[in-house]
Amino acid sequence: MIVELADIGLDGLDLEGDLPATVLECGADDPVRCAGPIRCVLHCQVVDRELLVDGTLSAPLEMRCRRCDCLFAGRADHIVYHYDQELDPMPESVDLTEDIRESMILAFPSYPVCRESCRGLCAQCGTNLNEGTCNCKPPADMRWGALDRLGLGKE
Ligand SMILES: [Zn+2]
Ligand SMILES: [Zn+2]
Repeated sequence: MIVELADIGLDGLDLEGDLPATVLECGADDPVRCAGPIRCVLHCQVVDRELLVDGTLSAPLEMRCRRCDCLFAGRADHIVYHYDQELDPMPESVDLTEDIRESMILAFPSYPVCRESCRGLCAQCGTNLNEGTCNCKPPADMRWGALDRLGLGKE
């Protein structure tokens, strides 16, 4: 995403474009990956020899659920983007790609879950508890909690 400074008029410059997902360099094992182009809707201005860029970024994501390990699709939408850079000396153009890349990665969810109610995997046997149950005994602290709920801890 390159801003040609000569194109910025008195009213600024509206710039729209797509950056390929590959600029994010997501690995196949990353918990959050960009699944398609990053849509950039930007407005550029030069004020007092400073380049100011404001706008939004959106991209489709593919995520791996931290609880059940399934892959699911999501989106990062209308991520607020801001950039400012002093232009001294004045370059012909400014490449925003690296800065957009960083903003996008910062906007990734840090703890993706496929749905709020996801029950995850059994920590002992790995059964997907969304799809079935297993016969594992819950860990000790949970067992006491269950006894309390049954009222067996009293009297
Ligand atoms: Zn899940
Ligand atoms: Zn189990």
